[in-house]
This record gives sequence, structure tokens and C-alpha cells, in this order.
Amino acid sequence: MALMRSILLAASTNTWLREHAVNYPFVRKSVSRFMPGESFDSALAAARTLGQKNIACIFTHLGENVSDRREAQQVTEHYLGVLEKIRDSGLPCEVSVKLTQLGLDLSPDFCFENLERIMQQEEKDSIVWVDMEASNYVDATLDIYKRALQKYPNAGICLQSYLYRTKKDVEDLLPLRPSIRLVKGAYKEPPEIAYPKKEDVDNNYFELAKLMLAAQSKGTCLRAAFGTHDVPVIRRLAAHAELSGYPRKSLEIQMLYGIQREEQERLARDGYRSGVLVAYGTYWYPWFVRRLAERPANLWFMLRNVFAS
Ligand SMILES: Cc1cc2nc3c(=O)[nH]c(=O)nc-3n(C[C@H](O)[C@H](O)[C@H](O)COP(=O)(O)OP(=O)(O)OC[C@H]3O[C@@H](n4cnc5c(N)ncnc54)[C@H](O)[C@@H]3O)c2cc1C
Repeated sequence: MALMRSILLAASTNTWLREHAVNYPFVRKSVSRFMPGESFDSALAAARTLGQKNIACIFTHLGENVSDRREAQQVTEHYLGVLEKIRDSGLPCEVSVKLTQLGLDLSPDFCFENLERIMQQEEKDSIVWVDMEASNYVDATLDIYKRALQKYPNAGICLQSYLYRTKKDVEDLLPLRPSIRLVKGAYKEPPEIAYPKKEDVDNNYFELAKLMLAAQSKGTCLRAAFGTHDVPVIRRLAAHAELSGYPRKSLEIQMLYGIQREEQERLARDGYRSGVLVAYGTYWYPWFVRRLAERPANLWFMLRNVFAS
């Protein structure tokens, strides 16, 4: 399982595969399980359907590591248009951005300017989420996030429980009243900086989640959100929240489109805050292969599509 995850994560950064695999119909068919379509309109249509079930959406335009200023500015403009469409739709949707797509590799100041334009346009009671990328970007991402948070209280950050450093990152952020989305982490990281065993990643996840929920109830964390499909972890969090006397609405679970749909609906029905991250765009290859790495059984699903196509 760990070997398969490593192979898939290596494949997610392979340029040759990225350019060729996306043309195979069985690959395109498989990716449609995780995204409603390549256009923003298909993402918005999915959000309407989910909204009827009390599930909020977070949109993300797929792409990373842009190496051209114009491209980063186009992505920024794109998000400004998305925020306008969200406002017109009246749906409870937010956006989640990758800083390398806003030009982090080119210049942190330029990236901050782009993020700031998006922050300025966002409704004050909605969060602009900043994704966390591979470990070599964590310091730069946190620096930009802290800068943004000083001016825009509704900036949110994603943190990863597989990194040893994350507890300290949470503690450093809490005096600034952050919004945090906690995930386990999707990249290939060495054992010097990340827990190699799933059990340790899960335990750290639960400990960090408790810290975030306690901070949220004291008001030192504006929003604590949990990006996970791990049903036993969600049950454990729900039991902890109940025991601690936190209202159900204070437990927010975010999942990816197409994964654990029944659980997304159950959470919304039972009064928890249920959100779904809807990805769209044409640059889906690395993102899709990271989804395969999270659950290598998805490979069988893809192989079934080879024979079905
Ligand atoms: C809203 C959201 C935002 C995210 N943002 C980031 C980010 O910014 N940076 C980052 O590094 N990572 C991000 N991730 C990915 C995250 O780090 C994990 O890789 C991913 O969520 C899988 O971990 P898990 O918590 O679901 O638990 P796991 O222990 O990986 O999975 C638990 C169970 O969930 C189900 N499951 C998990 N993944 C899949 C899948 N792909 N297909 C089908 N079933 C699956 C399986 O049943 C599995 O047994 C995000 C995830 C979510 C949900």
C-alpha cells in the first residue's frame, strides 16, 4: 500500500505522464468521478444540487506552479469572476486557492498582491481558504497567510497533520485568530519531517482537531474545519464535541466532491456543518493522481473503465 502510494505520488509530478495520460478516454472517465466537469459552470451546477441538501461548496480552480506572471494574474482575475458569480447565485460557497498558482514561485510579494485582490473581493463573512502544498512551500505559505490575516480576518489556511511541525504552527497561529482547515496531507514527504505511519498521522489529526475545537469555542480560532473522509475519525470528533458541550454546528467537515457522498449528506442531515470542495479546470492530472494515491483501490475503478471504454 505504502509502495503504491509512493509510485503514484511520483507519477503525479511526471511531466510526460501529465501530457499524455489526460488524452486517454478511460482516464478522463475516471476523473469525472471526482469533478463534475472542467468548467466553472459545471462546478456551480453541482453546488446548486448540493445546496439543496444543505451542503456548502468550496471551489478550487485546478492548477499549480505557474511560471509566468500573466498566468498568475489570469488565475486571480478568474477567481474575482468566480466570487462575483457566487454572490449572484446566493449560494453559501467559498474559494480555496493554491499560492503557487498565484505566483509564489515568481515572487512572494507578487503572490501576496494577487491573494490580496481576491481577499478584498470576498464577502466579509466568508473565508478565502489557502491550500497547503508540498513541505518546501510551508514556510512561505504561512508567511503570506499571516500577512493576509493581519488585514483580512476572513483568511483561512490549510494545515497537514502528517507534518511533525504542525502542532507548533497551530499554536503560533492561534494568537492571530486564524481559520484553519486541518487535513492529513497529500504529498510525498520524507520521514525526517512527516509521520510515515498512518496511525501516527491519524492520532496527530485527532490531537490537533481537539486543540482547534477548544480554540474555536474560546473564540481564538475563527473557524475550525476538518478536511477528511475518514469516517471513524469523524465519529471520534463528533463524540468529543458532544462530550465537550460544543454545538453540532461548530463541527465542520469538508470532503472532496464525489467521495463519501452518503456521509456528506448524513452530516448535513444530523445538523453538522458539511462542505464539499469542488475542483474544476483542465489542469487536473497531478490533483487526480494524488486522489488515486490516497486510495489505491481507485486504481481498480480506473482500470475497470479501460474495459468499459
Ligand atoms: C476539503 C479538502 C481540502 C484539502 N486540501 C488539501 C490541501 O490543501 N493540502 C493537502 O496536502 N491536502 C489536502 N487535502 C487532501 C488530504 O490531505 C488527504 O490527502 C485526503 O483528504 C485523504 O485523507 P483522509 O483524511 O480522507 O483520510 P485517509 O486515511 O486517507 O482515508 C480515509 C478513508 O476515506 C476514503 N478516502 C480517502 N481518500 C479517498 C479518495 N481519494 N478516493 C476515495 N476514497 C477516499 C477511504 O474510504 C479511506 O479509507 C484536502 C482534502 C479535503 C477533503
